Amino acid sequence: MVSRVIPVDPFDLVIFGGTGDLARRKILPALFRRYCAGQWPEDVRIIGAARSEHDDSAYRALVADALREFAPERAKDSPSVDGFLARIRYVRIDAEEQTGWAELAGQLTEDRVRAFYFSVGPRLFGALAGQIEAHGMVTDRTRIVVEKPFGHDLQSARDLNATLAGHFDEGQIYRIDHYLGKETVQNLMAVRFGNMLFEPLWNSQYVDHIQITVAETVGIAGREGYYDRAGAMRDMMQNHLMQLLCLIAMEPPAKFDPDAVRDEKLKVIRALDQVQPHHIVRGQYGPSDGEPGYRGAVGNSRSATESYIALRAHISNWRWAGTPFYLRTGKRLVARSSVINVMFKDAPHSIFGADAGRHANVLSIRLQPNEGITLKVTIKEPGPGGMRLIDVPLDMSFAEALGPENQDPPDAYERLIMDVIRGNQTLFMRGDEVEAAWAWTDPIIAGWQARGDVPKPYDSGSTGPGDAELLMKRDGRHWQGIKP
Ligand code: NAD
Repeated sequence: MVSRVIPVDPFDLVIFGGTGDLARRKILPALFRRYCAGQWPEDVRIIGAARSEHDDSAYRALVADALREFAPERAKDSPSVDGFLARIRYVRIDAEEQTGWAELAGQLTEDRVRAFYFSVGPRLFGALAGQIEAHGMVTDRTRIVVEKPFGHDLQSARDLNATLAGHFDEGQIYRIDHYLGKETVQNLMAVRFGNMLFEPLWNSQYVDHIQITVAETVGIAGREGYYDRAGAMRDMMQNHLMQLLCLIAMEPPAKFDPDAVRDEKLKVIRALDQVQPHHIVRGQYGPSDGEPGYRGAVGNSRSATESYIALRAHISNWRWAGTPFYLRTGKRLVARSSVINVMFKDAPHSIFGADAGRHANVLSIRLQPNEGITLKVTIKEPGPGGMRLIDVPLDMSFAEALGPENQDPPDAYERLIMDVIRGNQTLFMRGDEVEAAWAWTDPIIAGWQARGDVPKPYDSGSTGPGDAELLMKRDGRHWQGIKP
């Protein structure tokens, strides 16, 4: 298969927080890879803007370091690195001070797409938005990109939305959830809505339940302060897992168009029931190999913040009434694995008798690592000895099925930043979606706070607290394994 790179229009991209961790690890390497892929026109301009005292050449050195560290496979090619760096500028700006803004405005080109990436804490969003407008940098082709966390609860998300709406139209605001930029997430929509095979079965009549797992092996090192105020519910469940749930559960949109897709996702969130307390399991990882456990890491022996959460959700609509959605995410688990498992019901009657066992179909959508889709189907075990049934995977690993050029699909940030430049908001969250997600999240958190629930300890390197297994067992089900 030939990969097609469609060049985007010329653009100027300003990265506020251009010296920070996210810019170095994700944004700049993503831009570099798209540059190497030939997706940019010649005269693109990338402007780093942050508080540090740099000139253009010092900032280019910082960018070159970041590329060597986070895009090593391409950074060996010096002409590419030099070509990329030649398009980089730096302006020293403090969001809360007046200096630098006129210089920044002077660097921008008239009549072309200009994107402002807010890679800074949300506290600064209002100040940045105000300065951009005050310095006449808002045009019809201006877009802003904002990172998570988008609020801490419903009220703060509303306040943030209101602040941004004071300076930009909703059509100019790109709220990033990088999970939506993953190749498999879009493939999920292609599989659901591009094939006749699945959609007729995609409902409570045929689907027993759905499992969504986002497991990480890393702890919270480096993010202790933020994480202990947030926890797994706010950091992962409210955004990433919620988005995956929406894409799995939504009705087919009339067309693949930003508002059509986002309208359907919003309906899913609004149809979610309140989660019952006995359908929630929270955990905290313990110490391992000389590494502190969660409480040690945050330096608070009484912390009640969860590094793991599993819950059972219900969507009250015609399609999904009676089909539970089990969601779990946690740190320091046995493997890094993000996967959605659609667990189909057993055949209504086994003509092969009870000895043949249960053989339900499972559709697994793997987001990371090894993006791909697997369908487990039941066949006869080859050879003599009667009718013995086994489950075999029909595997569509992108790397194997689509050839070597697809071994390394574009990183989520590559796709999403190019979508910003193209002006396509389909894979970005709309303000009302984010608020609806918080409206579902807030009472869950308020509930465990009022009850004084304390997270259960779990071993680092395990699959999470034992109570998460019980959550499933009580329903006569079990989690699929967490495999790398
Ligand atoms: P960071 O602390 O590493 O970098 C912050 C950047 O903001 C620096 O460039 C700093 O100079 C700049 N900055 C700080 N105060 C400023 C001010 N007053 N005016 C102008 N610039 C200022 O943070 P980070 O990890 O890069 O995260 C940036 C944002 O992205 C945060 O909101 C974070 O929650 C979010 N985010 C980060 C990651 C990640 O992997 N690092 C992932 C998802 C979301």
